[in-house]
Amino acid sequence: MTTTAHPRPWLAHYEPGIPHDFQPSGRTLPQLLEQAAKHHPDRVALDFLGRTTNYRELWFQVQRFAHALQKLGVQPGERVAVMLPNTPQFVVSFYAVLLAGGVVVNTSPLYTPHELEHQLNDSGSETLIMLDSFYPRYAEVQERVPVRRVIVTGIQDALPFPKNKLYPIKARKDGMWVKVPIGGKVFSFTQLRKSQPPIPQPAAVSPGDVALLQYTGGTTGVPKGAMLTHENLVSNAEQCRMWMSDLKEGQEVTMAAIPFFHVYGMTVSMNLSVMTGATMVLVPNARDIKMVLTQIARTKATLFPGVPTLYNAINNHPDLARHDVTSIRACISGSAPLLLETSRKFKEITHGANLVEGYGLTETSPVTHVNPIFGEQQEGSIGLPVPGTDALIMDDAGQPVAQGEIGELWVAGPQIMKGYWQRPDETEKTIRELDGKRWLLTGDMARMDEKGYFQIVDRKKELIIAGGYNIYPREVEEVLMTHPAVLEAAAVGIPDTYRGESVHAVVALKPGMHVTEKEIIALCRAELSAYKAPRSVEFRSELPKTAVGKILRRQLAKEAAERRSTA
Ligand code: AMP
Repeated sequence: MTTTAHPRPWLAHYEPGIPHDFQPSGRTLPQLLEQAAKHHPDRVALDFLGRTTNYRELWFQVQRFAHALQKLGVQPGERVAVMLPNTPQFVVSFYAVLLAGGVVVNTSPLYTPHELEHQLNDSGSETLIMLDSFYPRYAEVQERVPVRRVIVTGIQDALPFPKNKLYPIKARKDGMWVKVPIGGKVFSFTQLRKSQPPIPQPAAVSPGDVALLQYTGGTTGVPKGAMLTHENLVSNAEQCRMWMSDLKEGQEVTMAAIPFFHVYGMTVSMNLSVMTGATMVLVPNARDIKMVLTQIARTKATLFPGVPTLYNAINNHPDLARHDVTSIRACISGSAPLLLETSRKFKEITHGANLVEGYGLTETSPVTHVNPIFGEQQEGSIGLPVPGTDALIMDDAGQPVAQGEIGELWVAGPQIMKGYWQRPDETEKTIRELDGKRWLLTGDMARMDEKGYFQIVDRKKELIIAGGYNIYPREVEEVLMTHPAVLEAAAVGIPDTYRGESVHAVVALKPGMHVTEKEIIALCRAELSAYKAPRSVEFRSELPKTAVGKILRRQLAKEAAERRSTA
């Protein structure tokens, strides 16, 4: 099998000034922070609700905490679970674990005890760093997990006076305050960080070492840890840096609202900011849109990586007019399709910010494609492969499709994961060697236009097949979102005796707005072929989303199918 039919066909379409060549620098993640501390020591690195830490101080704190971890016995290669929202403690923990030679296991603060138990066991994490208010969830499973050390911190530890006095210092369980028992195997983050001088034992870390286990359902559904190396993660931040050629070293202010425990926030908000000496404005809860707006206005944030549901929520927030968001000048939207309606309105409220769509996966650290930020953008497209990245569109037999045809997107580059942690069978299904490169099979259906721009048609598994016709949910959602009363929308397939599946729409309306099922169906029938129009519409006050803000289409489909079968 050969791909010589079209080796890197999109290269011909890079405009002058858009870079495509890339050489990994060979740096490790802690080296990025060390260099930021050297080049921008007095620049504010973290701004947490008004309390600031500069790069010199951040590096100092990271070194001290790394030393404390080593003193506790954390060994090179050992997994350390980090279960924290976007706080200074997250940033310190992340880089300190890596400096001590450990592997970070990003753990979602939204996990139930059951999910936490699975992840701690699967990753074999012996150390857990967490917020005090999450402690009861760990306490419930502590007998069944390998954790030997728990390091607990409170949100108030990072707040400026007098806010630090207003927050509780205990965890909540069943509506009651419980005291976190410091002692034995439970340690205080703040005491540990202060207890050691900033001279960790040098851990031999090289770029090819695994830095992170990032859990994902992946393309086959089983939750598993994608092994991302220092080289994967540093390269991806460097690839984004090259793409954002206008980014001003040591001068940008990043609105860090999307969670760092998701690979997208970690690379595009955190590591890219550290690499360029930008200030990170930390927001612990991206669902608190009022707080996001207040912090943008207060800090005059210039960069705002986000997800479509976040931009959409900002566009429609009742307090929007009271906050100045015009300092924002560039945003990459990723993780889910950016509907045209959302990007147009966001550009309007920011007076012309460059909001461009990008694409990626956990397994690719995550960015593989982005629209040119300061070049020609294609609406509805994920743009071009970022520097050093190759892409193919393949049929089910593993052969390239003709240009313009739909097929599965395969990607290769320095950001492709090493594999799945302890699951060689899953790795084998997802990574393919071809023409001397390692290709990741994304599970997404895509096409490439004649200018070399890629478009995600939809996720292979979310395709709706009604009466033998393929329907891509995104196409239906684009239409649903044009209705002035619709705030959020999803199209899913539900079982249908005659057609196999039929399209079911789930919508949330803007406050005070009203529309009927009939009107929604009529709108879709006017804009789409009849077989694509929803046959039923469900109204909800809000659509369920993942921690990063992706609409949970599969959950909606399951619930709708269950309701139908019991009706
Ligand atoms: P995750 O590994 O959780 O980040 O999810 C990766 C998946 O998100 C991809 O395989 C795509 O299905 C989806 N995705 C990411 N970016 C986009 C985008 N711009 N448009 C459509 N789907 C996207």
